[in-house]
Amino acid sequence: MKRLQTELRNIDHKGYPAYKGLKGQYRFASYELGIDHVQGDPFASPSNLSVRIRGTAAGFPEEFYREKYRRTALEDFLLRGFCAGLDKISFQAKGSGKSGLVAASRPGQEILERSACQVDEARGDVLFRFVVGFPANGRSVRAGELEKILFQLLPPVVERSGIWKNINQSRLQERIDLADDQEAIRVQLKELGLVAFVANQSILPRESGVSQRPMKNAVPFVSPKSMEVTLTLPHRGACTGMGIPKGITLIVGGGYHGKSTLLQTLERSVYPHIAGDGREYIVTDATAMKIRAEDGRSVCKEDISLFIQNLPNGKDTTCFSTLDASGSTSQAANTVEAIEAGSKLLLIDEDTSATNFMIRDELMEKVISAGEEPIVPFIKRVKALYQEKDVSTILVAGSCGAFFHVADRVVQMERYLPKEITAQAKQAAEEYPCELASDGRKMDFSESRQVFLPRAQERSKVKVMGTDGFLWNKTQVDLRYLEQITDAEQMMALAKVLEYLMKKNGGKNVVLNAAVDEVIIKLEKLGFHILCQGNVVPNMAMPRKVEVMGCVNRFVKG
Ligand code: ADP
Ligand code: MG
Repeated sequence: MKRLQTELRNIDHKGYPAYKGLKGQYRFASYELGIDHVQGDPFASPSNLSVRIRGTAAGFPEEFYREKYRRTALEDFLLRGFCAGLDKISFQAKGSGKSGLVAASRPGQEILERSACQVDEARGDVLFRFVVGFPANGRSVRAGELEKILFQLLPPVVERSGIWKNINQSRLQERIDLADDQEAIRVQLKELGLVAFVANQSILPRESGVSQRPMKNAVPFVSPKSMEVTLTLPHRGACTGMGIPKGITLIVGGGYHGKSTLLQTLERSVYPHIAGDGREYIVTDATAMKIRAEDGRSVCKEDISLFIQNLPNGKDTTCFSTLDASGSTSQAANTVEAIEAGSKLLLIDEDTSATNFMIRDELMEKVISAGEEPIVPFIKRVKALYQEKDVSTILVAGSCGAFFHVADRVVQMERYLPKEITAQAKQAAEEYPCELASDGRKMDFSESRQVFLPRAQERSKVKVMGTDGFLWNKTQVDLRYLEQITDAEQMMALAKVLEYLMKKNGGKNVVLNAAVDEVIIKLEKLGFHILCQGNVVPNMAMPRKVEVMGCVNRFVKG
């Protein structure tokens, strides 16, 4: 600490690069400060810093961090407190450019593991990663202002948000209790053969298309009696709501009655939500994947023959590549890739589907003979996918009754409330027979598909564009239709995972599933640092395997 102070005084008014010499570790009263990366000039990305509070000083009870899901809840809580503290001190130090900015990654409504706050599983050390705009006067060092940040402003924030005796303990206990309850729902989901649970009184709609905060004055969710299940949670006790069993579930209803809102809620509830979100007690199978049409995406050596055969250009659909897929081929590829990646629940909304991928009506079948039609629609495969591969589907289909034939249950949304109408729907369907005979095709999915990964350059640059995608050096990777990516931080982690895979396997054909499993297991066991040489990028959030596979699949070219 003294050394840093002396050094700061030595470099005052010097050229900005003099800051570079500050890189290193410094011992403060209750933590170690790391100046991990120093920005090159006042307008560049701000410098990366970290703070490590030893477990003995942080003093959090061991039972809060030994188990992964609790540790993630603890980290999330500490990070939110830390961020709030930094907000108050940001830009209090002055200068040009980004001088005085102090910030850490800002979690949204989900609770995710993030590189910005990590608690060590064994010792309980608390680590925060954040950025600071080193203050400048034009292009020269303003050391006094940095001294103000590091010696006056920052220490109380760290101490108030990273040390057990200083934090709001009952608040934290509530968050840990909620995490226990959420985990209990997840466990019981499996035991009961459910793919999703939506607690009564949950708030599903969001404030707006760009805000994931709850809508005010929304109609609270109430399960239909026939689908009610009551779970027993360790803290909340009995919790009743709608259980969606495995199999094929159809969501129908008039326009604007809340169908897509229910589906979007399920898409998002693969992650736990924070207290006050309205979706705290909603849990979806963690492998659930939204499947949609994605015209224009590239497909690399994918076997889409389950859905597409005999293309007019004679292309082989068992090893299909294109740089510009159509609506139906893209949705076929998205489906096959999701199942290859291990998804056990497909979430589909007719609003964002290619109609000809989903269904073909009888009249059309009569006019265009099967031999001339390359597409075997999803409706003909959905049952076999469940029966043979244990892949369930939840499908919003407000305009197509043919799905009544294949659905295990039908839920109607009416004025934002669900009713179960399976019996009526099945009865009505009997009067409209539908030819869905199987062609005997087995539901085979390759787990050993190989793709060629290009070699990564030594120095690579990643620029994240929100949840739309990222630029990797000069290559644009468009992931906007992987709709469950939560935020720019998950995007950053996806980019870094892709880079890791290329560094490791670049220039080779690799079995994609195995390569991705390897990195995910390592990431979960060892942490974010495996993705970074040297300093850990301070703004990464843990991605799921299905999105990592989705990212690589859109990047590689066949
Ligand atoms: P659908 O897919 O059936 O056409 P949406 O799910 O898109 O309908 O919902 C239509 C509108 O109703 C949206 O603006 C949504 O925010 C709003 N909405 C959905 N659920 C509720 C609710 N429980 N309470 C109030 N408004 C809701
Ligand atoms: Mg809709």
